[in-house]
Amino acid sequence: MPRNKVLVLGGNFGGLTAALAVHHELEGDVEVRVVSASDHFLFNPSLIWLPFGKRKAADITFPLAPTFEAHGVDFVHGEATQLHLDEKKVTTTAGTYDYDYLVVATGYRNDYDVVAGLGPSGNAYGITTLEDAIRAGEGWRRFLDAPGDIVVGATQGAGCFGAAYEYLFNVSHQLRKAGLKKRVKLSFVSPEPFLGHFGIGGLPHGESLLGMFLKKEGITAYMDVGIDRIDEGRMVLDGGRAITFAYAMVVPPFLGQEVVRTATQIADAKGYVAVRDTYQSDAYDDVYAVGIAAAVPVPWQTSTPLGIPKTGFPTERMAHVAAKNIAAQIRGETPRAHEEFGDMPAVCVMDAGNNGVIILADKMLPPRKHGVLIPGPQAHAMKLAFEKYFLWKARHGYVSLP
Ligand SMILES: Cc1cc2nc3c(=O)[nH]c(=O)nc-3n(C[C@H](O)[C@H](O)[C@H](O)COP(=O)(O)OP(=O)(O)OC[C@H]3O[C@@H](n4cnc5c(N)ncnc54)[C@H](O)[C@@H]3O)c2cc1C
Repeated sequence: MPRNKVLVLGGNFGGLTAALAVHHELEGDVEVRVVSASDHFLFNPSLIWLPFGKRKAADITFPLAPTFEAHGVDFVHGEATQLHLDEKKVTTTAGTYDYDYLVVATGYRNDYDVVAGLGPSGNAYGITTLEDAIRAGEGWRRFLDAPGDIVVGATQGAGCFGAAYEYLFNVSHQLRKAGLKKRVKLSFVSPEPFLGHFGIGGLPHGESLLGMFLKKEGITAYMDVGIDRIDEGRMVLDGGRAITFAYAMVVPPFLGQEVVRTATQIADAKGYVAVRDTYQSDAYDDVYAVGIAAAVPVPWQTSTPLGIPKTGFPTERMAHVAAKNIAAQIRGETPRAHEEFGDMPAVCVMDAGNNGVIILADKMLPPRKHGVLIPGPQAHAMKLAFEKYFLWKARHGYVSLP
């Protein structure tokens, strides 16, 4: 009998985990192919360090082909351009591939259109892609030669708040190291209703802890506000207040990929796939979506719109659920594995250069039973260790490890 074909689009946190986990679940008795626009894995959490020269691109990436080959998974470097869901095939820049089961793990792209003056040719730097972070580093080196005030922030609709906070505190740490701390006014701009909301509703004592951090570092916060535009050297907030800067880094909102957005049978207007808690799409039992590609409803209304952070840990959990369910379907069983995004534990480390905060909660979204923030230098050490561990685990394809 011909083996079932599983086609995975995207080879980062979600795609790598789903592809290797389904292969493992079925002990290799399945044909798994990954098509990814990038031929390298990127450990995005370390992009916060790249602009300061603490990491180079080669330190936080590895080539995908050898990892997949070592596990008997076919790897294709190419970009999916059209999903033909009724015919069960996908057109890519490297050819057309059919499937029995499809996993969409194509992640995010930046929505630079939300604020004039954002984006690669705009007036503020970004760190959410490797190329953006490299440019942010070039800008940082120019800044050190001609220092002035700095603004770090996130736009209305953004969800990746951890990266904005981490960059803010790392900038503060770098300013101190460069002897510039007293000369530079550092500001933080965020759509969050309060400090430490993080797009997950906040955690006990989070607001006061973040407030203490900002006070200690002499950082001025502008909360619950959108950005109207970013001119050269000047950020104008909604309502007209302006902040001048010599260096700015702003996290934009994320969107799903265009190839997903145009597959209107499964995608919402932002290009995310509407999924059940089995990570099957609402519309097709044989089409799954994991990680940032999966739609997660924002459970609250805020005066300034916010996104939701779909971080690495839930992405891996979704990928494992999807892999179990595909394996069950192939074995002729009902797919029973399920886990709501909001019920997954929140496990995160917010780095602050030589310090940080460990964030732990029983659930990603409220109501929660437990939630704790543990500040201290051990958080920075943990982030360093986790980066090494995760890259080792991913490069070797040991996706069953925690
Ligand atoms: C600056 C930054 C800091 C972060 N820090 C943390 C942190 O500290 N902790 C944490 O848990 N999470 C963190 N995250 C979030 C984490 O990076 C995401 O959860 C994770 O990247 C999601 O993985 P994914 O596989 O869903 O998507 P992605 O990582 O976006 O991967 C998508 C993959 O799909 C490929 N692709 C895109 N389009 C196509 C196409 N058309 N066809 C084929 N392939 C395609 C891409 O090349 C890429 O390989 C951070 C993110 C950023 C940007």
